[in-house]
Amino acid sequence: MTTFVLATANAHKANEMRAVLADLDATLLPRPVDVPDVDETEDTLEGNAGLKARALVEATGYPALADDTGLFVSALGGRPGVFSARYAGDEASYEDNVRKLLDELRDVPLERRGAEFRTVIVAEFPGEGPFVVLGTLKGTITVSPRGDRGFGYDPVFVPEDENRTLAEMSPEEKNAISHRGKALRALAVALAKRPSS
Ligand code: IMP
Repeated sequence: MTTFVLATANAHKANEMRAVLADLDATLLPRPVDVPDVDETEDTLEGNAGLKARALVEATGYPALADDTGLFVSALGGRPGVFSARYAGDEASYEDNVRKLLDELRDVPLERRGAEFRTVIVAEFPGEGPFVVLGTLKGTITVSPRGDRGFGYDPVFVPEDENRTLAEMSPEEKNAISHRGKALRALAVALAKRPSS
């Protein structure tokens, strides 16, 4: 049995992790309240997830799981990327970020509105190197928001081979194809192969 501490304080993400990792003999603990959030100062998803995971291992002595996600838009040279949460400013809401994205893309035709979500998850074990996994989802940015499910950029992202935005899908449909779902499933495979698990 392995016990992991999670970098996320987001209950929705923690439950999603528990559901996908249910077959592993693992207990997932929320981030202890006395361990502060880490500043994401790196310029890659892997760098930031690694920072968060190492800080948790140092603070708790337990193996740690940390994830970082970004939306990479081709017509914007990959922006907002690692800055997706803070795209419209440090205190930006999801709506602010979506508004800024649609505004920046207002003259870009549909065929050039390609984008990709990327999630990196780092599993860090005390005294060992990290496991790093990646999940991606390609799609297109819509001209206006549609749907009221999900969060973040979901209302303006249509996955490839789909007509609906992620915000028009059920959570189960989204998890089955999403960047985070894929990264979690890759993590489950990697951890199951780990010798001491
Ligand atoms: P985080 O690293 O998971 O906190 O994600 C950074 C930012 O990316 C979030 O603040 C959201 O704006 C966006 N984001 C992450 N995951 C998703 C998703 O599944 N759908 C839509 N937006 C997302």
